[in-house]
Amino acid sequence: MTLISSSRPWVTAMLAVLALTACKEESTTTQHLSKAPSVERTWPGHFDEHRKHFEPKVYQIGDQRLWSINNPGGWAANSVVIEGDNGLIVYDTGLSHQQGEAILAEIRQFSDKPVTAVFYSHHHPDHYNGTTGLVSEADVKAGKVRIYAWDNFVEEMNSEFGATAPAQAVRVVYYGGMALPEKDRHYHGCCGAKYGGNSGYIPPTDTFSENTRLTIEGIELEVFYTGGEAKSEFGLYLPAFKAVTVGDEIFHSVPNIYTIRGAKFREPAGYIRAVDAVLSYDVEHLLGSHLVPMHGKENIRETVTKFRDLVQWINDQSIRYINKGYGIEELKAQFTEVPEYLENGSFSTEVYGTFRHIAPQMHAGLMGYFSGDGIEYRPTEPVELARRHIKLMGGRDRVFAASNEYYRDGDFQFAAELLTYLIRVDHGDMEARNLKAAAFRELGYAELNTTWRSWYLTSALELEGKLTPAMVAARVKDAAFARIESQSARDIIGSLRYRVRAEEVGEERISVAYDIRDSGEQFTARLRNGVLLMEDGLDADAVLSMSRETFNRLVKRDIEAAGAIADGLIEFEGSLLALRSFGKAFDENPFMERLAVR
Ligand SMILES: [Zn+2]
Repeated sequence: MTLISSSRPWVTAMLAVLALTACKEESTTTQHLSKAPSVERTWPGHFDEHRKHFEPKVYQIGDQRLWSINNPGGWAANSVVIEGDNGLIVYDTGLSHQQGEAILAEIRQFSDKPVTAVFYSHHHPDHYNGTTGLVSEADVKAGKVRIYAWDNFVEEMNSEFGATAPAQAVRVVYYGGMALPEKDRHYHGCCGAKYGGNSGYIPPTDTFSENTRLTIEGIELEVFYTGGEAKSEFGLYLPAFKAVTVGDEIFHSVPNIYTIRGAKFREPAGYIRAVDAVLSYDVEHLLGSHLVPMHGKENIRETVTKFRDLVQWINDQSIRYINKGYGIEELKAQFTEVPEYLENGSFSTEVYGTFRHIAPQMHAGLMGYFSGDGIEYRPTEPVELARRHIKLMGGRDRVFAASNEYYRDGDFQFAAELLTYLIRVDHGDMEARNLKAAAFRELGYAELNTTWRSWYLTSALELEGKLTPAMVAARVKDAAFARIESQSARDIIGSLRYRVRAEEVGEERISVAYDIRDSGEQFTARLRNGVLLMEDGLDADAVLSMSRETFNRLVKRDIEAAGAIADGLIEFEGSLLALRSFGKAFDENPFMERLAVR
């Protein structure tokens, strides 16, 4: 396996990205302006008001033994705690072991009872990773603590990122602003500001496949499926408290029915079903994992109904215009603000989700990318198109001068669009890149949507040559390796199917089998017609036999196959030539080189 070679350039890259030092710029063929025009940093006034929803605070619900622990220690999400006869029930445990500890510290202000039941509202990581901060694994094993989730929880968790993980891993940093310098950072529009920490996940012990009533610690609960933002999502109805708690189905923004980090198609129908499920309970208190608790039957009913109708409105209106023939680009321009009759305080702000990106994704999800104009089938290749446009506009310098004029006039979008032609034909045109970076900063500082704001500002860094997706990928690579222990060896090798260099492999047939002695896994990876197939058994050109620990080290590139065979860590049988060819059949690095420079 030569995919397991090469040194570790990402270690230094990671340090570089953390320090945000300037990296070397790409080969420069045109050098005019060495710096981007400076842009004054501004913040939408709305941010100050909106971020208050995510301040750390513990809310007791009336004088009942029910609390919402919001963003303890500034961490990303809330936990709902219910005190029963001899123990506590916790709905969501937060983003990390450290957040779990912060939750427990808050709990100890009002109760000495042990946590005996935990619910995971859904499979997104800010809801289940704090568990070890609240309970011990030994107590879970001994049956003293039960952990409840929906029955597709683990499956959804494992497939959340799936095949496009390398692309999403980079994009998540762009949309979350994690690589921005401190002075440019801002809160993520859904949640508390603090991220990071170690995983304190403990797998569920009990799962639900249908709405279920149960009594825990003398507390009556009704588990009801919502499945909106995530397919594993459910809420709790607590009749004695006249309260419902939901995960992420309702929070202080237009819901993020599309996420620009890239994710599977999220259908608004799921959100509507989720909110309808909440509305089916007449309650005095509504709690949630990113929600400031709401009170009063009428208030809850009115606000949640409007929130629900807003989702149906964007769903139905998007489809209405798709039926009228609107394509992705037209839909972006069609829904630019919330109609007055749907204004609903923080719940209709576009600080996290925005109609501008929901409507086009509706087209992509329901109709695909094609708008109906035949030029989209075999369009002029983008670089050639840019070259021709530049020529028609009078050449590079004319286009740059015009971009500059639009920039000075405050039309930053059009300036950026024009500059894109120049950058596309010459990635080394730093003058164009710097001006586009400035245009993105102008757009970013004026942007209310926190994910788009992050994207503009992070893209500006890439355009200036201060950050590359490779540097970002380097950071996430280490995080990815931290997970391999929990994956099967077969799945790890199987995921190489997305790295096959099909153009080189062609019809070549090579097979390598793995015999993982201690875990008992035996499988064969077979290359055929440019695709990788996984089979049971050890019928292959080359057979490698090793311990799981050696396998892990090989994957992490701590050791190389040839060396490990020589050292006796791997027993090898069959054709060395086949093994070498197999190793060369895959991309060394699955990550992108550029994202904003294109
Ligand atoms: Zn969440």
